[in-house]
Amino acid sequence: MTSSPFTATVLGLPRVGPHRELKRATEAYWAGRAGAADLRAVAAGLRRDQLRALTEAGLDSVPVGTFSYYDHVLDTAALLGALPARVAGVADPLDRYFAAARGTDSVAPLEMTKWFDTNYHYLVPEIDAATRFALHPDDLLEQLAEALELGVPARPVVLGPLTFLKLSKHADGDPLDRLRDLVPLYRELLTRLAEAGAAWVQLDEPILVTDLSEPELAAVRATYTALAAGDDRPAVLVATYFGHPGAALAALAATPVEGIALDCTGDAPAEAVAPVSALTGKLLVAGVVDGRNIWRADLDAALSTLDTLLGSAAAVAVSSSCSLLHVPYALSAEAGLDERLRSWLAFGAEKVAEIAALATALTEGTDAVADALRAARDAAATRRTDPRLRDETVRARLAALTPADTRRAPAGDRRAKQRAHLDLPPLPTTTIGSYPQTPAIRRARAELRAGGIDRAEYVRRMRAEIDAVIALQERLGLDVLVHGEPERNDMVQYFAELLDGFATTEHGWVQSYGTRCVRPPILFGDVTRPAPMTLEWIGYARTRTAKPVKAMLTGPVTILAWSFVRDDQPLADSARQVALAIRDEVADLEASGVRIVQVDEPALRELLPLRAAEQPAYLAWSVAAFRLATTGVADTTQIHTHLCYSEFGAIIDAIAGLDADVTSIEAARSRMEVLGDLNAAGFDLGVGPGVYDIHSPRVPSVAEITEALRAALKGVPAERLWVNPDCGLKTRGPVEVEASLRNLVAAAHALR
Ligand code: GLN
Ligand code: ZN
Repeated sequence: MTSSPFTATVLGLPRVGPHRELKRATEAYWAGRAGAADLRAVAAGLRRDQLRALTEAGLDSVPVGTFSYYDHVLDTAALLGALPARVAGVADPLDRYFAAARGTDSVAPLEMTKWFDTNYHYLVPEIDAATRFALHPDDLLEQLAEALELGVPARPVVLGPLTFLKLSKHADGDPLDRLRDLVPLYRELLTRLAEAGAAWVQLDEPILVTDLSEPELAAVRATYTALAAGDDRPAVLVATYFGHPGAALAALAATPVEGIALDCTGDAPAEAVAPVSALTGKLLVAGVVDGRNIWRADLDAALSTLDTLLGSAAAVAVSSSCSLLHVPYALSAEAGLDERLRSWLAFGAEKVAEIAALATALTEGTDAVADALRAARDAAATRRTDPRLRDETVRARLAALTPADTRRAPAGDRRAKQRAHLDLPPLPTTTIGSYPQTPAIRRARAELRAGGIDRAEYVRRMRAEIDAVIALQERLGLDVLVHGEPERNDMVQYFAELLDGFATTEHGWVQSYGTRCVRPPILFGDVTRPAPMTLEWIGYARTRTAKPVKAMLTGPVTILAWSFVRDDQPLADSARQVALAIRDEVADLEASGVRIVQVDEPALRELLPLRAAEQPAYLAWSVAAFRLATTGVADTTQIHTHLCYSEFGAIIDAIAGLDADVTSIEAARSRMEVLGDLNAAGFDLGVGPGVYDIHSPRVPSVAEITEALRAALKGVPAERLWVNPDCGLKTRGPVEVEASLRNLVAAAHALR
């Protein structure tokens, strides 16, 4: 094994295609409109184009194997022979893979959850005593061969054994016990990759940036000592990202691995590596270009970081801080952005160019890239002075706020006043906000965008949708109605389009999971609300019914979590600005006569820092932002919030801290466990634990919902309990929604 170091790379690549070609091909395959050969041809074409482009752009080591038909954690499970036993009956390997990802009529899919603190979702492998790991490297070897044939300096990338095991669900025992089985398999894989011509292999271990115990740190050391033993293998690069590995860095450096990749975008990471003397024999792959945000890099700062690192390692390569999976492909697709904003941005292709320029600066000196350095400086200068970045009115308003502005009367007092004011039955029934986004709704939006219909016609069609949703809820006998959110393409983008300080893209797609992609808005300046954002729709809905209509807003934390955020001020400051805009919207709604406002924060858990030490500060500012948004109302006005995506453990106190009068929360799948946790935290506000799982098309029976409510009543007194599904209904079909809600109302009535 004699592999010379490389100088320029990225840690991983997006895979849906610059125009979401893979999404379309995959969905055509699922729908039976195309065969597996068509899908494979599209995938191979996308990979080939990408490999060529990266090599031409100047990368001298190019990741392969980060392509995926659905998810890279699922790919790793397939590679290691760890697909769940229940899909074994599906004969075709591609269909078996998709069965694990999406389920079939007879087989449940793997669970999905958030990939670290990003908005990407991975599939959670299931491991139990019956799991017999076995190596299935053919796909990876094929991708390697494909790249080598093109003359690409290919570096296979595989999720490392520690991260794979820690992210999996284990029936019993310590997850890392199974390293015993996996290390020999990974070792064999390395040999196979070397035989196939790989000079370097990258093993991804993002788990190393989370808090690890002493035994886990020992496992890091033992694992990589074993994997890097002998020389019938490629050089091994262990990639850490989404933060600094801390103590795990020393553990890793003490092993014979040849390279370590570090996320160098945070605070002073370059200084943090200096004490790790074992690095002086290794290649340090420095993630100085932010792989998960879209700002143009400060090349001068990056060069000075690289300079510092050069003193600590045998060699330094320039890289992205993580896979480019989390940013859109290229700026060139965006025709609509204003020129100045565009000059501040770097999407995937632009990041690769930055990396190549930095590597050239290291090897040939800065003169060789003088133009790139000057362009970056010029862009940074216009960004610093752009008037849109500072709105003194907003800053002054925020500075003038006092603690009293974000405090409400005690919850019990509010409850009594709201009861008199709202006159709701016990166990009130409601929904989370959205109703099915029908083809007609999507068509109306597309036609408006394309100029086929005017705004008046669009409003007419949306009103017709609201009419239908209100009529449905009246017919079903729900107590608190909603307008159904037909006008919202997305619960964050909708608000970003109406707030100043945000820009939205036309093609800035980023994979969220499988074939689902999102276009995160770009928060670039101070946030202001030029006009009310929801009044026209909620107001209209209220004219169609005598029942209370709950207004729906998205909370500040979720708006930030699902956007690309500005990097020139703390997130907490941006959160306060967004919160102020939402607070104004809540005030306008209240003034118009609305008595219930729901402010959704489904992403509250998602932004939770990976390290425990950083969590309290985050929870303090995120809860404060929610309170800023929601506390400007009279005691009689009822504030709701909605949380989902499970695993509430670490944020239970924060949920109580939100002080929302009513919290609807995903609970159906966890069988109401969350209620006990809330009680333990002293929570005594209204709560609507979701009584059925909306993520499946199944219609829950009355008996089932009644049972869920009985279980809930063990943890929550009747006067605080609300009855609702566990999330919005926008992805469901109208027929199942009507049937499910009918049963939900029947169950609530039976218990009353
Ligand atoms: N109000 C939103 C809806 O019903 C909430 C969605 C969510 O929780 N992600 O669609
Ligand atoms: Zn939800």
